[in-house]
Amino acid sequence: MLKIQNLKKYFGGVKAVDSCSFGIKENNITALIGPNGAGKSTVFNLISGIIKADSGKIVFNSKNIINKSPERISNLGISRLFQQTKLFNNLTIKDNLLLAIDNNDTKFWYSFFSLDNNENNIKIKNILELVGMEKFENKLARDLSYGQKRLIELARTILNPHTFLMLDEPVAGVNPKLRKIIINILKKLKQQGETILLIEHDMDFTLKVSDWVIVMDEGKVIAEDKPNKIKNNKKVLEAYLGE
Ligand code: ADP
Ligand code: MG
Repeated sequence: MLKIQNLKKYFGGVKAVDSCSFGIKENNITALIGPNGAGKSTVFNLISGIIKADSGKIVFNSKNIINKSPERISNLGISRLFQQTKLFNNLTIKDNLLLAIDNNDTKFWYSFFSLDNNENNIKIKNILELVGMEKFENKLARDLSYGQKRLIELARTILNPHTFLMLDEPVAGVNPKLRKIIINILKKLKQQGETILLIEHDMDFTLKVSDWVIVMDEGKVIAEDKPNKIKNNKKVLEAYLGE
């Protein structure tokens, strides 16, 4: 579904991503892990078009999408959860989610009102049920806790029309109970046929949810394998110990 070939991005002398290559299979949950500064977030930013690559290829469904605009990449079906929450605090959860269904800037208010229809209301009900937040539909975003906001952000990422989900540290800073809830949500999404790439620092979480683990260090892929094998990989242990 997604193939990255010899991807390169230097920031001055820092080789953030350096001849990085890997592939993502459809209907798999793939985890991208590695010590701090390994280049994971830069890879995400390159895939979603937020920063421009120096060279390489990013092939999504047989199309090279490298250095296309974020809007274009999003329209091709890549939806991304950001590390920081970006909800509109003064809007209700429902309105925040309506905006995710179609955020056509040029017709913002027009589309906002026309979006509030039966079909979309059902979509929102279903997604809130999936993340266990159906009681919060009419609450303002600012009244939610950090963890609840993360769940709504996840709902919004899923609601955004897509065929491929990228999640940047979905459980960073959330409590163990919420972590379990998010594990179950990801498992359900996989059952529904979703393809997911996630960055995660929490090894335990990663090993529980992923089908395949890709390990980066110093801008390169140093290992990839099934989760139960990767945790004993010598190169991986060395990279983490050296952190
Ligand atoms: P990770 O997400 O694996 O922790 P990053 O992709 O954030 O790693 O960073 C990889 C390297 O690139 C780090 O050394 C980081 O300091 C550097 N880097 C990332 N973004 C920038 C930037 N915008 N400008 C300069 N250096 C950057
Ligand atoms: Mg990062």
